[in-house]
Amino acid sequence: MNDMTFKIRATKTKRRFAGFLQFVFLFCAVAALSLPATAQPAVRQARAGSARASQSLVLSADVVADEGTSHGWIVIEGDRIKDVLRDARLIPLDARVIDLDGYAYPGFIDTHNHVHWNVIPKWSAGRLFNNRYEWQLDPVYLYMVSNVYGDRVLGRDVEDEAIKYGEIRAIMGGATLIQSRYAKIQPEILIRNLDKRYKADSYTPDIRKLDDAAAKAYLSAFDSGELKRLFFHIGEGKSSDPTARAEFEILRAKGLVRPGVVLIHGVALCDKELQDVKDHDMYIVWSPRCNLALYGETLNIEKVLDKKIDVALAPDWAITGSSNLLDELRFANAYVTSQRLTEKISAKTLYDMVTKNAAKVAGVEDRLGQIRKDFLADIVFTRKLDPDPYKSLLKTYSADVDLVLVGGKPVYGAYSLMGKLNPDCNRVVVNGREIGVVTTGNGTGDRKEKQEFAEIEDNLRQALPAIAPLHEE
Ligand SMILES: [Zn+2]
Repeated sequence: MNDMTFKIRATKTKRRFAGFLQFVFLFCAVAALSLPATAQPAVRQARAGSARASQSLVLSADVVADEGTSHGWIVIEGDRIKDVLRDARLIPLDARVIDLDGYAYPGFIDTHNHVHWNVIPKWSAGRLFNNRYEWQLDPVYLYMVSNVYGDRVLGRDVEDEAIKYGEIRAIMGGATLIQSRYAKIQPEILIRNLDKRYKADSYTPDIRKLDDAAAKAYLSAFDSGELKRLFFHIGEGKSSDPTARAEFEILRAKGLVRPGVVLIHGVALCDKELQDVKDHDMYIVWSPRCNLALYGETLNIEKVLDKKIDVALAPDWAITGSSNLLDELRFANAYVTSQRLTEKISAKTLYDMVTKNAAKVAGVEDRLGQIRKDFLADIVFTRKLDPDPYKSLLKTYSADVDLVLVGGKPVYGAYSLMGKLNPDCNRVVVNGREIGVVTTGNGTGDRKEKQEFAEIEDNLRQALPAIAPLHEE
């Protein structure tokens, strides 16, 4: 990479003098500051002493884009991507440049999770259920999960800590925007929350309990433009289960088979209902690991793709699903392989389900889901584990994530890098690896916005009988 920079700068034809100054400085800076750490990033200041508030941050990597993957320099100003350069001579003179020898992907979009529950360790009943209402009444589930949430998380006032802990779990898998329903709007300290700020809302309980007044309120919010996406759990159960099968028609009776509605799961949807989903510009979130663990079957993904329905991949939660999106991607790939669907559902198709297509499902495709000029600078940098960036992603574990930016800010990554880019980050050891993560903000002045990781973890440990590890297989 540095040799390449050298060659490019040595053959410059334009901006000769400026390019020369850049070259001289970069040569010295790289020699002085290249890091021997595992992530091996080189952080350099293009001009010593020229740092100022408006200074660009430039990160180089193999940039994964729809038009192809090639080495580039992503120029970030404020919370946006100002440009993606293919020529190092165009790097702004006062930029802070970080060389990363890996892939740059757009921040992954987790279109459905229950982040605050992910503080509770995994649970398995050891048997299958017919629908979501069955396991929610299982005595062991109540004892080990539901009552723990009620008595210990809510009862001991650590829900804010649980949300922060769950967000760290999610960002370890590269998620930068997440859909999760909370009792109140949460400050966006680490990760973006797909809520009313993004014209999105969700309804989590039994669809049969949605009263007409609430349904009408959703419909008028759609009509006024206040609402763009509305998420429901629909058809979560076996395809043979009458309760799960009835849910789509209940939604239709409430006037909510309509554009902008997102169906989470949809395992029990029949062919005609899937056609209705397509015809009404609705969307689906697919959670294969959670579905197979609870019901022994999942969405008919082949049919969904045949009908060209926009579908996103998401874990649902870690308790019966995946720890994070990277794990869910690997699980989905294993499932696709077991069903002999790899020709139809390639690594790129799965990648789209957490980036561009997920952005469409989330209703944010005009500013997120791609590394593009003027888009929000949510970017995930990983190690390169395969010459094909999509196959590489399916080999990527959270330990291979070098850096995550949200809105241009380095908020998570290898501590060797984060410690330099954001000295306010917390150093946390996960499975022997040192990571840096930001847990504090100063938006609302709430005392819980000032908590460092040690306090978050300590409060949770005191409140709960056991907490889930940050990464759990
Ligand atoms: Zn869910």
